[in-house]
Amino acid sequence: MKKKTTPPLLIQNGSLILPDRMVEGGAVLCERGRIKAVGKDLPVPENATVVDAKGGYISPGFIDIHVHGGGGADFMDGTVPAVRTVLAAHAQHGTTTIFPTTTTGASVQIMAMLNACREAARTWEPAHGSRIEGVHLYGPYFAADKVGCHSRRGRRDPSPDEYTRWFRDDLVRIATCAAELPGAEAFYQAARKKRCLITCGHSNSNWAEMQAAFKAGVRHVDHFWCAMSSVSSLRSRFGTPMQAGMEQFVLAMPEMSTEVIADGMHLAPELLEFAFRMKGVGRLCLVTDCNRAMDMPPGRYRFGSEDDGDFFESDGKVGFVPGQGLASSVVGLDHMVRTMKKSTSASLPDVVRMASLTPAERVGIAKNYGSLEDGKQADILVLNRRLEVKQTFISGVEVPRE
Ligand SMILES: [Zn+2]
Ligand SMILES: [Zn+2]
Repeated sequence: MKKKTTPPLLIQNGSLILPDRMVEGGAVLCERGRIKAVGKDLPVPENATVVDAKGGYISPGFIDIHVHGGGGADFMDGTVPAVRTVLAAHAQHGTTTIFPTTTTGASVQIMAMLNACREAARTWEPAHGSRIEGVHLYGPYFAADKVGCHSRRGRRDPSPDEYTRWFRDDLVRIATCAAELPGAEAFYQAARKKRCLITCGHSNSNWAEMQAAFKAGVRHVDHFWCAMSSVSSLRSRFGTPMQAGMEQFVLAMPEMSTEVIADGMHLAPELLEFAFRMKGVGRLCLVTDCNRAMDMPPGRYRFGSEDDGDFFESDGKVGFVPGQGLASSVVGLDHMVRTMKKSTSASLPDVVRMASLTPAERVGIAKNYGSLEDGKQADILVLNRRLEVKQTFISGVEVPRE
């Protein structure tokens, strides 16, 4: 019996966004969910499904390594339907691979989140939206003085009894812990055994603590300038002489990467430009750090679990806690790409690389994802000239527009 095969897919008549250059009037040919050829004047195979990019851009799908929710749901809701709601929402904004991100919460809540993501990944098909390639274990190991908008009750120091269960299989691919916490080093070593991207976030650590963390495997810092140590915050912790902290460490060490929330609300244009110039395209990722309020009307929402997460407000542009400060973003990666393009000197291939190939490299999945290259998964976006997502293809399957 002949096996049912999907016809080849040809996306043509667009400017290809490659990691290092643009190719005008290009096309991408996909077969069996993978990219077969990329370039100009590709032959149209018989029975191919042809997609016309209408003179827009043909971009690799975006990869988000720090994202909490969207479309009304938070991964910490801990159910498969909630996870699927977030995946569907972010695919509309161009995210084809996603790393669901935990926040502070009870051990059982984090376990429920991991179980829901594992099950959603096991039963996943492209029509569901963004593909889960692993979880970002982000909370609960934050420093008490840098918890930010996350629930303070759910914060604690790392304990092996707890995280050993979370590291049981290979679901966790990115692991965050504040470097100054007791037990941080053992946590980093456990994450290193699992070959995670190891990161320090929500931390008030000084240079010496960062050096020890680096030795234990830390190579990344979450959302640059947000909930991280600075010369002045370290002065409050240690007095004088003033000390260097995470900012100086990341800027001084070529091996260290970081990420920016480029929603235009968290960081002014000059900080986005500064981060790009200092770290370069291979060490800076665009992330959303998006919460459940994306694509939802302005109002009051819970950060983290629907049951007991702390409240924040969304005005449709950003999340915030009145009188306290920002509470992460409410927009997708497409918005971050547009803001970065508009606000910095980075070229379009550079900007898109920071939202695709660079995060893929940092997490160790670049062999299969992150750029328009032969043999990689056919995760492809058709964007118009304003960089708005018109079509999302995941493994060569078009995700239905909502
Ligand atoms: Zn954070
Ligand atoms: Zn976050």
